[in-house]
Amino acid sequence: MSLRTILSIGALLTLLFAAVDSLPKKYRKPKLPADPDAIVDTDFDYYVLAQVVPQVQCYKVNNLWKAENSSCSPCASSWARNDLDWTVHGLWPSNLYSDRFLGNCNRTARFDGEQLDAALRAQLEYHWTDLKRAAYRDDFWRHEWEKHGTCAMRVDALSGMRNYFQRTIELLKRFNVGHHLEKQGVMPGNHYDFDEFNDAIVKAYGARAKIKCAKSPTTGKQYVNEVHLCMDRSFEMIDCTGVLAGSCSKKKKLTYAKNANQCTNKTVINE
Ligand code: 5GP
Repeated sequence: MSLRTILSIGALLTLLFAAVDSLPKKYRKPKLPADPDAIVDTDFDYYVLAQVVPQVQCYKVNNLWKAENSSCSPCASSWARNDLDWTVHGLWPSNLYSDRFLGNCNRTARFDGEQLDAALRAQLEYHWTDLKRAAYRDDFWRHEWEKHGTCAMRVDALSGMRNYFQRTIELLKRFNVGHHLEKQGVMPGNHYDFDEFNDAIVKAYGARAKIKCAKSPTTGKQYVNEVHLCMDRSFEMIDCTGVLAGSCSKKKKLTYAKNANQCTNKTVINE
């Protein structure tokens, strides 16, 4: 490499660092400390409330696609539930600069199952269902709290583990995608063009959301499995940014699945 090339690269890098340095602090990528016990002093701009279609998420996380055309579901939870009740995946403090969520902000704030009384557990089991069949007790909630809740806890409204779970369930009840889509005439058991589904979401919330699909490896069908709503720090809807339809193909219909009844011993599908 010639001296001239090296000097040009050097000048370019200096310009780049100067540009990043002049960004307002909130748009800069947070610096994570080397000490894993340190509290990450980083701010966030918005929340993602990620909701799932439980039936489809269950197929996906357990790879149970062979059940997709069956009248019963081998998923662990009881499917005696309203088809319109989507469940929580998580509430994720996120950062505009990286368009990503933050993670594991306070490694000393461990999950403590004792703080979840029976009433809250019952709510979590229905609204924040762990759809992984082989998961240990509280695994999903532990993961979500330690990865995302510890970043949310700096905000009064979400401080404390119990509060984080309680408040997120309240948000789910207020913004449940299934119920909002119903008001737009979009119902489980039907197939939609991506734009049609997307328009219904935009009308329902007055903001753009991220729509995610899970593709069946057996039939090639794509199922809506998650919607990510974006909210400002006062929990008002805002447009999500970045790639909004990443995992959905716009060329194929989206299937919005209906729940199936739980399989009994007699009808259980061979896995
Ligand atoms: P994140 O780490 O971004 O909060 O969530 C992604 C992770 O959650 C993935 O590893 C995915 O497998 C996992 N996941 C998604 N749904 C469930 C669930 O219902 N239960 C459990 N235990 N993990 C889940």
